[in-house]
Amino acid sequence: MKKVFIIISAYNEQENILPLIDALKENLDGKDFLYEMVFVNDGSKDLTLSVLLESQKTIPNITIVNQSKNFGHEIAMTAGLNYVAEEIKNKSDEFAVVFMDADLQHPPELVFKMINLWLNGRKLVLTKRIDNQGKGWKYKILGNIYYWILNSFSDLKIPRNMPDFRLLDKKYVLWINRLNETDRMFRGMLSLVGMQDAQIIEFAAPKRYAGTTKYNFLKLYKLAIDSVIQFSVKPLRVAFGVGVLGCLFSFGVLFYSIYRSYWYGEDKTGFLTLLSITTFFSSITIIFLGVIGEYIGRIHIEVKNRPLYYNEIIKNEN
Ligand code: UDP
Ligand code: MG
Repeated sequence: MKKVFIIISAYNEQENILPLIDALKENLDGKDFLYEMVFVNDGSKDLTLSVLLESQKTIPNITIVNQSKNFGHEIAMTAGLNYVAEEIKNKSDEFAVVFMDADLQHPPELVFKMINLWLNGRKLVLTKRIDNQGKGWKYKILGNIYYWILNSFSDLKIPRNMPDFRLLDKKYVLWINRLNETDRMFRGMLSLVGMQDAQIIEFAAPKRYAGTTKYNFLKLYKLAIDSVIQFSVKPLRVAFGVGVLGCLFSFGVLFYSIYRSYWYGEDKTGFLTLLSITTFFSSITIIFLGVIGEYIGRIHIEVKNRPLYYNEIIKNEN
């Protein structure tokens, strides 16, 4: 029988777990496919884990992937996906994976719609937010900056308002699993493997059911920088280009001052000009050393090849 794994990453979502499970059950129970709710507890400090363990006692198709600490949303999704990959190893059954958030901003009714599309042959179902009640103006500004950085500096074109709420057929799961880099960014990874088969469904994201957002300015900034550096060497190329331009500029100034002193006999070189040129070039150098440093830092992390996370899988024993 066909099976769907629903991977739900949860970090401090104690009030949202039960309503989410109820909604999923209401939409998916008794249909002609199997499904399993894979909750990745991303090191929650509240009662998320207890609520999950309690629910697991009465609901057989709940699995908990319990991260040893908070590793972040992207890694949580990876941990869920790796669990699924282990589960389906050497099995030939058809299956799909749905990623969703735990805060009910990704409507459970849509999960059923996505699965239906999959049952009818779609290999990839993506979603697009058309109306985002959940986000305030601050978040919208941050979002704009994030996508601006992303789309101007990385080689990938990553569409706006496409959350990590999506369905992937086995084919895509296996493809994504072949990418074994330490840095993970699902949006980018899907762009890498290609999204030709994708069907996009639109939805209006409601407000968070309970709790508060786990993303703040620093996290989004980090995500944006990560996304750019992981998927592109464009910043290095920009650095090189600016270096060349800077060189041309300084040669220009040099020749101009030679010309002035030769023809007009000016011997007082402008102190301010000198100062501005020196600071201009040293700051460019420092900025681009920083850019190079970002890449080297990542090579350093990649080379160590440490495990991305530590966790234990808590399956239902019944
Ligand atoms: N999340 C997680 N680990 C983290 C941060 C967030 O697993 O370190 C989960 C969170 O519980 C939620 C999803 O990722 O299910 C999206 O987070 P959130 O709702 O805070 O983001 P937003 O919807 O505000 O962009
Ligand atoms: Mg949310």
